[in-house]
Parts: sequence; structure tokens; C-alpha cells
Amino acid sequence: MSAAKLVIGNWKMNGSIAQVRAFADLAGRDWPGCEAALCVPHPLLPAAQAAFGATPLRWGAQDCSAENDGAFTGEVSARMLRELGARFVIVGHSERRAAHGETDGQIVDKAQRALARGITPIVCVGEKAEERDGEQTATVLRRQLLQLVRALGRDLASIVIAYEPVWAIGSGDAATPGIIDHTHGFIADTLTFQGGLAPSAVRILYGGSVNPRNAGAILSRKCVAGVLVGGASLVPADFMEICKAAARCSTPATSEVT
Ligand code: PEP
Repeated sequence: MSAAKLVIGNWKMNGSIAQVRAFADLAGRDWPGCEAALCVPHPLLPAAQAAFGATPLRWGAQDCSAENDGAFTGEVSARMLRELGARFVIVGHSERRAAHGETDGQIVDKAQRALARGITPIVCVGEKAEERDGEQTATVLRRQLLQLVRALGRDLASIVIAYEPVWAIGSGDAATPGIIDHTHGFIADTLTFQGGLAPSAVRILYGGSVNPRNAGAILSRKCVAGVLVGGASLVPADFMEICKAAARCSTPATSEVT
């Protein structure tokens, strides 16, 4: 696994041009030296391109179309995101799976469109509370991953998976280190066994109520390649603290917290 931990912010339907500029000021001044990007709403991408271009902070989007171009009113293609300098795009977030009925097949198509344009897709997977309680986590994750493995094969090494238990998102309660270790191990096994990759080739982020207080403990897990951050990514000081934790955990001397 890459030694540099990745921090991705998901602004959801929040933020403004002024907020983009506030993050750019911070990133231009006092950057801790980790790899980080903010995935902003589509209308804020030009502002992100203008403001973050001269900083170490990268930017991305929260969705892209499963199609290339054409009569798809309201959709935004990976090509358009690329023109605005997006390096990442989140696909298959649980909010889009729930509110827009996105299927595993559509999510695979979106990931492939992004890859074809040189954008790293961050593919979200994770179980709902009732699925966890019904001991269905492995079944759900396997279903969410298998089409991806079949379609992408060795290109799996070019994407990022985000394990986001739906019950942890926005709840204030992140998954415990034990759950994260166990589930990331299961995801890595599924991808490497089915996809024929070395475990070190697969990047798996954790997402769900990450904040400046728990980021260090989560990022210090060996199986955690980084974090996907919702609410805390809207507050410059909080996002910066999480980036600092990521920079500390990216050093070879990092020891695992048990
Ligand atoms: C998310 O929705 O991707 C997320 C991780 O949200 P939060 O950090 O607010 O739980």
C-alpha cells in the first residue's frame, strides 16, 4: 500500500465560492504535506480550479455520468470534469444509491468513464444498519464489489475504494478500529482474490464520522489508505487537522494503534 495516506473531503450539497477561497488560503499557507482533495458540487469546480491550482490541495466531483455525451439532461460527463482539472470523482455514494436508485452496474460504468478520462474514481461501498444487524455485511459488500472486479480486472489498482458503513455516516459514531480492520480485510481479500491483484495494489479508504479527534486512530491502521470525510471537510481547521494526522500516519515510522 502507498505510504502516503489520502484525505478526500465530500462537501455534498454545501459550500460556496467564498468557502473554496478560504480553503485555498489555508492550503497555500500551512500545508502538512499529505495527499488531499476536496470533492465539491459541480458549480464550484471552476472556483476550485482557479483557487487550488497553485496549492497542494487537489479537487474533484461527487458524481459523473455513466454516459459519454449526448441527450442526458442534467448529467455531467467525466470529460467535462477533466476539463475543470478534477483528479477524483466519488461514485456510488450511499446517498446517491438511496436517493437516485443507482445500481452496481451504473456505478461500474461511471468508474470506467472516469478512468478513461484519467480521473481516479472513489467507489463507495458499505452496508446499512439493518444489513449489519442481519449479519449481511459480507453479502452486501461482495455484491457491491463483484461487478467492479469483473469489469475492471487489473484496473482495480487505479481506483480507490471507500468503505463507508451507512450507519456511521453523519452519525457522530465512526466504526471501531476492530470493525474497520475486519471489513477492510474482507474487501482487500475480495478484490485481490477475485481480481488477481497484490494486496498492496488496492487502496481502501474509511469514511463515516471521521473528525479531528478520531482521525489519527483511524489513519494509523495499516489497512486504511486514507479517509473520506463529509461534515468535517467543511470546516477548514478540522480538515487541516485531519490532513495533519494523515501526514503523521504517512511516515514509515508509524506504529499501529490497537
Ligand atoms: C460521507 O457522507 O461520505 C461522510 C463520510 O460523511 P460524514 O463524514 O459526515 O459522516
